[in-house]
Amino acid sequence: MNRTENISNNSARLTIALCGNPNSGKTTLFNVLTGSNQKVGNWPGVTVEQKTGFYKQDKGVAIVDTPGIYSLSPFTVDEQVAHDYLFGGKPDLIINIVDSTNLERNLFLTTQLAELDIPMVVALNMLDEAEQKGIHINTDKLQRRLGCAFFSISAAKNIGVDGLMKYCITQKPAQRIPLRYLARTESTLNAMMSTLNVPNKRWTAIKILERDKNFIKSVKTDISKAQSIADEYFRQNPSLSSTDIAEQRYAQIEKIVSDCRTLAVRNVKENARRITDKIDKIVLNKWLAFPIFALIMTIVFYVSVGGLGEWLSGLISERLTPFLQQTVSGWLKSANAPWLSSLVVDGIMAGVLSVASFVPQIMLLFGFIAILEASGYMSRIAFITDRLLNKIGLGGKSFVSMILGCGCTVPAIMATRTIKNIDERNATITLTPFMPCSAKMAIISFFTAKLLGGNAIVAVSFYFVSIVAVILGGLILKVLHRKKNSANDTFLMELPVYRMPAPLNIIKQMWERGKAFLIKAGTVIFTASVLLWLLQSFDWQLHMVDADRSMLASIGKTIAPLFIPLGFGHWQFAVATLTGIAAKETVVTTLEILISEGMLASYVSPLGAYCFVIYNLLTIPCVASISASFTEQGNAGNGLLSMVFQLSIAYAVTLVLYQAGSLAVKHTAIFIITGCCMAIVLVLCLSVRYLAKHKGCNYNCSHCPHRAECAKK
Ligand code: GDP
Ligand code: MG
Repeated sequence: MNRTENISNNSARLTIALCGNPNSGKTTLFNVLTGSNQKVGNWPGVTVEQKTGFYKQDKGVAIVDTPGIYSLSPFTVDEQVAHDYLFGGKPDLIINIVDSTNLERNLFLTTQLAELDIPMVVALNMLDEAEQKGIHINTDKLQRRLGCAFFSISAAKNIGVDGLMKYCITQKPAQRIPLRYLARTESTLNAMMSTLNVPNKRWTAIKILERDKNFIKSVKTDISKAQSIADEYFRQNPSLSSTDIAEQRYAQIEKIVSDCRTLAVRNVKENARRITDKIDKIVLNKWLAFPIFALIMTIVFYVSVGGLGEWLSGLISERLTPFLQQTVSGWLKSANAPWLSSLVVDGIMAGVLSVASFVPQIMLLFGFIAILEASGYMSRIAFITDRLLNKIGLGGKSFVSMILGCGCTVPAIMATRTIKNIDERNATITLTPFMPCSAKMAIISFFTAKLLGGNAIVAVSFYFVSIVAVILGGLILKVLHRKKNSANDTFLMELPVYRMPAPLNIIKQMWERGKAFLIKAGTVIFTASVLLWLLQSFDWQLHMVDADRSMLASIGKTIAPLFIPLGFGHWQFAVATLTGIAAKETVVTTLEILISEGMLASYVSPLGAYCFVIYNLLTIPCVASISASFTEQGNAGNGLLSMVFQLSIAYAVTLVLYQAGSLAVKHTAIFIITGCCMAIVLVLCLSVRYLAKHKGCNYNCSHCPHRAECAKK
């Protein structure tokens, strides 16, 4: 959790809320202002709850980063967070961050914010990009039209930010001028406002006129008079619908934009998207999209988990760790206390260093994920997977969570707040922990290097098994929910233009992830290592004994039989699956402490090792993630069901893999023949289905009952 998250802003003399569309640069500005390191990304859904920090140059000013919203009508949990904050948290001032390269769309929210009773200043962000694209915005004209002050800034390049803040802190923001609608609408609004006794009168009247049921329900005071005026308005103008105000708003924005913006090149708007469209033509192509995606992800994991990452990790585990252990062991010899040397060298150092050696791989993986996010490709991944995921009751937004889950399950679970459909959201929370988080990557690398021939393809295969588990889990959940229709959370994520990732941002995110991992190694893993050492060094009578007769061994031996059918029946492995609940890295730590160097292969076969990794990838996640799952599902029953589900899938998938794998090893020929037979049966089934579909029409589409479908294809 980030240090800025829970800071109370009660002590602040001035509270400023950063509001704007997703991707407009709110978090980037927040980081510049507070010196914090919140996650930024070129895709919506990165910030899902508000974060508070203090302005670096004046600690009396609190800055609140809110999730991105397109309008003030909330649809999803994160939009609700932003909405509730504005209406309930009462910031003293709003800085509305606007993407200057996308003025029309961003001004929709700006004009809505201007209708609230909260002072506002508008920051026209991405000045650098706008200049590059030949877009010039006349801030004076905008100021005259909308009343509030407009500042051109670049949050990423820290241009114009000081001027903006100086104005916010020292000047009293001018009165805003809300949009003027048509005369008939204005007079109705005025009549409604005179009957209302609520804050944000104009906004409330507009919402009543827009017949926004959720908003109307949330108003606590009597608004019946205003509602009858609205009803009368629609009676007198029967051709109007509840979208009338939005239409008038758009028309006005169009006029304002054409008055206040000049484009250096004709058709610059199209030019701005030209390169993006060119790239999208290839990466979103019907046939190329998935191969390109698979290729990119394989390269990412190949370089970070195998290749370079493995080489760097090897330097730490093979050179640095033995050197440090020998040095410390030498120092402790003089203390003449073998137990101390055992605790420090075999317990703490073996545990902590075994985990620390994975830092390079984790940092590399995060560097790649940060590049994919910042460039805008991550939104495309969500887009191309949306239709596919719909088939298993999930959507593109679930995929965003899954990708975040490759880093850490906790923020991934929180990112599900952008999902509107409750079933889809709970399913995503249950399935996201199947993705190999950075801690599980430690398990993958450890076993790949020690028992699976260091083969990077094997390492990548774990990611594919995780994806298969997500698909399988999604299908089962869909059947359990008996959903006739697939996910109905319409995919509304916009595809941002491609941007060159800022190297400094990438390095910052890599550093943050590496640091978080090291801090965990220094705290949770340190404590777990000490505890494990104690449990494996003493028996229940607290006598120092061999590991085989220790407390840990007796716990492990009780549950170990459960894992025999999965291929890892030794008690050390049983214990490792349990300690993994504290933090997944502890699985590796436990085995390093319990099994002497070089002896691992005598405890488990390569197939058993593979299955052990799979079981740990799919079983219940660490406590932090379990707690996030309970909180986000808002219901202990659902949280528990998720855990039972994860445990069952982990057990079933591993059981099938091990048993099928053992058969394949023993009876390779029979296995290949059975596999071929199954493939033939599958092809036959598909052909029969195809023929049945086209039966009686001789493939002549004009007679086929499915011709409409075919025509679409
Ligand atoms: P948020 O969704 O509003 O919080 O937006 P973020 O702060 O996460 O930024 C979205 C993307 O815009 C990131 O890739 C940023 O690096 C990029 N960005 C933010 N501010 C600027 C800017 O002033 N210029 C440019 N070129 N990119 C920016
Ligand atoms: Mg953000």
